[in-house]
Amino acid sequence: MLIDVHAHMDFLPEEKLIKTEKNKRIRLVLSNSVNLESCKKNLEISKKFSKIKLVAGLYPEDDLDLKKYEEFEEFVLKNKKNVIAIGEIGIDKTEKLEFELQKKVFIKQLTLAKKLKIPVIIHSRKSELEALDILEDYKNKLKIVLHCFSGNFSLIRKGIEIGCFFSIPTNVVRSEHFQKMVREVPKEKILTETDSPHLSPFKEEENEPSFISESIKKMAEIWSVSEDKVEKQIEKNFKECFGF
Ligand SMILES: [Zn+2]
Repeated sequence: MLIDVHAHMDFLPEEKLIKTEKNKRIRLVLSNSVNLESCKKNLEISKKFSKIKLVAGLYPEDDLDLKKYEEFEEFVLKNKKNVIAIGEIGIDKTEKLEFELQKKVFIKQLTLAKKLKIPVIIHSRKSELEALDILEDYKNKLKIVLHCFSGNFSLIRKGIEIGCFFSIPTNVVRSEHFQKMVREVPKEKILTETDSPHLSPFKEEENEPSFISESIKKMAEIWSVSEDKVEKQIEKNFKECFGF
């Protein structure tokens, strides 16, 4: 069955949510949040649709501060039964927010995930090395998923050494970088994601969780195994990372 570990279901129209819920090939979709408002929307969505789960996190947007972090932590602790991971979190040099503050909020969220014993889903843009340096302290203490990792191959090796999982986006159908990642990262460290509504495998169409099937096709080709084998491997990896 198909598993999407990184989508933004709060950005999709209601009919896509219904379509996802009804699709028999889809097992689970993890709806990632970027701020408190999106955490709240994804909480409501996860209560309404059984296949969609809440991943709560604060991305380093312009207006993030420590007060907002406190409100977020309160939200997570209050709804901890529904929060299956912390994400998407990270550091990002393309964002205007002061880098030291970004790091501080990132570490606070890693610490929270560790305390709650749940995985983290990470996006580090133009700051992959700095993110891995921080994550090194959490080796063997936290399950880490690197979403849409665009660091070079020496950084990918560093991620592997820390024990990270790598979630491969649906644009793997045309991205050399992600195809190479599927070839070189150990099979048991690979997960699948769409980043819906972004990174569609079809240029003219908005992304949605059912398009994970396109990644499965591509990965089966790269690994020279059946699509069924790829799906089973991903389900096994998901269980190893998320525990269910
Ligand atoms: Zn995302």
